[in-house]
Amino acid sequence: MILVLVETGADGAAVTSLETLTFARQLAGRLGTQSVEAMVTGSLEAAATVRDQLAAQGVESVHHAGGPGMDRYSAGAWATALAAVPSDYVMAAGTPRGSEILAHVAARAGTSMAANVVDVVDTDPVTVSRQVMGGAAFEQMRVDGSPTVITVAGHAVEPADAARPSDPAWREFEPELTEADLATAVVRVEEGEADNTSALTGARVVVGAGRGVGGADDFDDLLELTDLLGATLGASRVVTSLGWRPHYEQIGQTGSRISPDVYIACGISGAVQHWAGCQSAKTIVAINTDADAPMVTGADYAIVGDLHEVVPAINEELRRRTAPDAAE
Ligand SMILES: Cc1cc2nc3c(=O)[nH]c(=O)nc-3n(C[C@H](O)[C@H](O)[C@H](O)COP(=O)(O)OP(=O)(O)OC[C@H]3O[C@@H](n4cnc5c(N)ncnc54)[C@H](O)[C@@H]3O)c2cc1C
Repeated sequence: MILVLVETGADGAAVTSLETLTFARQLAGRLGTQSVEAMVTGSLEAAATVRDQLAAQGVESVHHAGGPGMDRYSAGAWATALAAVPSDYVMAAGTPRGSEILAHVAARAGTSMAANVVDVVDTDPVTVSRQVMGGAAFEQMRVDGSPTVITVAGHAVEPADAARPSDPAWREFEPELTEADLATAVVRVEEGEADNTSALTGARVVVGAGRGVGGADDFDDLLELTDLLGATLGASRVVTSLGWRPHYEQIGQTGSRISPDVYIACGISGAVQHWAGCQSAKTIVAINTDADAPMVTGADYAIVGDLHEVVPAINEELRRRTAPDAAE
């Protein structure tokens, strides 16, 4: 049996969990000997809202892990719940939570875990293809032990309903939790800053800002360039970690992955984790004082110079060309 942890939110099952269920169903179809079952946590009312989505995915049973300690996120407690249901495969989406919980599951079972899997290439022994280096490369990995514990990379498959919906059996249970299971748990949830990630991921032109900008008060030129080009501003992790710009503007392995027509990276060195988020841009322009920076050597076009001189010059030319009386 393939057991899939389903993460839920206000809009029902997370899209990444639906992808994982589809991935599991495709594997079950190939093996011919496995069924797919789902585990949900949280309140019964919230869990019940995803029943139709799970039926559409063709799952045979839904295990609802409830009771004290299961109403808030705790990787240890959720791992105990998954371990309480004997299975051949345990899967979750490769989200921060999915990765954390399944690491607990594998550690307790004394097995290995493969993260960010995109395909199961062999089942005896189980061998998977998985993303490494922030999706820049793939490796094949043998996953020893039982159960087979894997997280599925985002977008590894498109979420698709089963050919025939199921009428899943609903099983309520309360996992037996220890104090150690609840050693780390969410105790408070606070409203975050407004998130505008979709503007970045869908943008045709992105202006990227790195540490080379200098400080939180030094963004005027870049913001003007962004405005003149009708672009969206993005940033490196240093910039968001220092609080110069909001986190939702981060591009990279742990930020947004962008695929604009043009990406203008200003004062960004081009670490592999940053490239992981911008390598799908059709044309990359780097502005940097260091001619040897990986962002410069990997870009389609590069301007080697101080961005506080280069960007105002570009802005001036753009203003001149877009002025109402500009000559053709
Ligand atoms: C697990 C993990 C995940 C990570 N995820 C991400 C991620 O998602 N996104 C990300 O961006 N990083 C990520 N990082 C961090 C990454 O490794 C780099 O530290 C970071 O990208 C560097 O940011 P930067 O290029 O702005 O700064 P720096 O590396 O300090 O580069 C600054 C650049 O600005 C240039 N410069 C300086 N002054 C000027 C000037 N006046 N004009 C023009 N150029 C100038 C310098 O030559 C240099 O190339 C991650 C790291 C780890 C370990």
